[in-house]
Amino acid sequence: MNELDKRKREIEERIQAACDRAGRERSSVQVIAVTKSISTERTEEVVRAGYVQLGENRPEGLMEKGSHFPEQSVEWHFIGNVQSRRVKDILPHAQVIHSLQTMSVAKQIENRAERVIDCFVQVNTSEEDSKSGLAIDEVKPFIEQLQSFERLRVVGLMTMAPFTEDEAIIRQTFRTLATLQREIEALQLQHAPCHFLSMGMSNDFEIAIEEGATHIRIGTALVGSESGGSL
Ligand SMILES: *Cc1c(COP(=O)(O)O)cnc(C)c1O
Repeated sequence: MNELDKRKREIEERIQAACDRAGRERSSVQVIAVTKSISTERTEEVVRAGYVQLGENRPEGLMEKGSHFPEQSVEWHFIGNVQSRRVKDILPHAQVIHSLQTMSVAKQIENRAERVIDCFVQVNTSEEDSKSGLAIDEVKPFIEQLQSFERLRVVGLMTMAPFTEDEAIIRQTFRTLATLQREIEALQLQHAPCHFLSMGMSNDFEIAIEEGATHIRIGTALVGSESGGSL
């Protein structure tokens, strides 16, 4: 078994265990394999290992890899900061954008997209200045302003936990996001079903699953880092 298959098996075991602890079905959690730190060749191996939902955080990476793989063989998730002038580069490849947080980007999507784009609104749950995302009390007003947009659907909320070893803090940020997601879901807005929670990365995906994550974004734990040896 190669290194990637080993890592995949280990991650799958940990996902299953977290689902068991939380009384959840494994099928309720989708894994987005974050390929931002690896080459197109190594991304091919990730796809061969069975991952079809892939994440990139820079337009360049998305454009290069997005045009490499046949359409419909993989689904690209854009997880990085979006600048409005780059929306036109992202749209041809990204099925899902996890990091919507400004009206100018929303308008670019509305004006340029040729189909409905599923978006997560990024939330700064830790209120760290260094983290991007809307403040918690900005989220609902922002989503309400998108009501008339026809090419953009808010499918959920996304966050990144603060950089800390303190599990209680990480858990609390995920719980805060889950609470907000349920509140917005309960509004039953047509343009914002908001059923999903994109949270959890290599270091904290088990906590995220326990707190309700539907999409976890796994990079280094799956693919290693480019400097850190082979797949
Ligand atoms: C890089 C990145 C990830 C994956 O991080 P790992 O710690 O390598 O798993 C997830 N989400 C976002 C937004 C990222 O930029």
